[in-house]
Amino acid sequence: MAPRKLAAGNWKMNGTLASLAEVDALLSAHPAPGCDLLLCPPAVLVHAMAQRAQGSALKVGGQDCHANASGAHTGDIAAAELADVGASHVILGHSERRADHGETDAQVAAKAIAAHQAGLVAIICVGETETQRDAGQTLDVIAAQLAGSVPDCATAANTVIAYEPVWAIGTGRTPTNDQIAEVHALMRDKLSARFADGADFTLLYGGSVKPGNAAEIFAIPHVEGALVGGASLKASDFGPIVAAL
Ligand code: PGA
Repeated sequence: MAPRKLAAGNWKMNGTLASLAEVDALLSAHPAPGCDLLLCPPAVLVHAMAQRAQGSALKVGGQDCHANASGAHTGDIAAAELADVGASHVILGHSERRADHGETDAQVAAKAIAAHQAGLVAIICVGETETQRDAGQTLDVIAAQLAGSVPDCATAANTVIAYEPVWAIGTGRTPTNDQIAEVHALMRDKLSARFADGADFTLLYGGSVKPGNAAEIFAIPHVEGALVGGASLKASDFGPIVAAL
């Protein structure tokens, strides 16, 4: 089995019910994409988006879940609750959650286990800060995040890894192709050393992916798709990225 290709959009804290018109526009322009297609809207929109996407190629995901299955955790959402309203995926350990909420690798791994138990695919994010890159620590940082954030129960079927350099997110800056290739090769090696099906995990690049740079990024070895923030909000931007994969 070769890794599946995935074009994933992360709406972050953007969008309203009215924004779901973008789903219709995306699906009418790309009714049969040549890759898996996913949008992760704010949690309050997951149900409505999943209903809107019913019967189409579009899958819907959450942006976080709690490590517990239920209980007294005001404001949090359980993986099974996301699944119940139609989600198939959940983004975990995004750098904004690691920064804003102090999420650790161990917490991300615990959330991934909860996601798997609820039948969700976990999209686990890793990425170095600019300071870490400048200090020559990128490969060590990625290896440590992978080791700590990806649980032992991960398989190519239930886990996707997204490499998202923190300094490239929302900045319009991207690493060079060689820099992306180096990290993706490391991730492939580490996953293959640890998991029987490590060669089959889908590896995404994320950070300032746009229609203008998507094709070039998708040509890099071991890049099987993208996790797209800003450019996933409008079908007119996301559609060409989907088409490039
Ligand atoms: P960006 O965000 O595409 O807006 O840079 C990517 C992400 O944070 O997933």
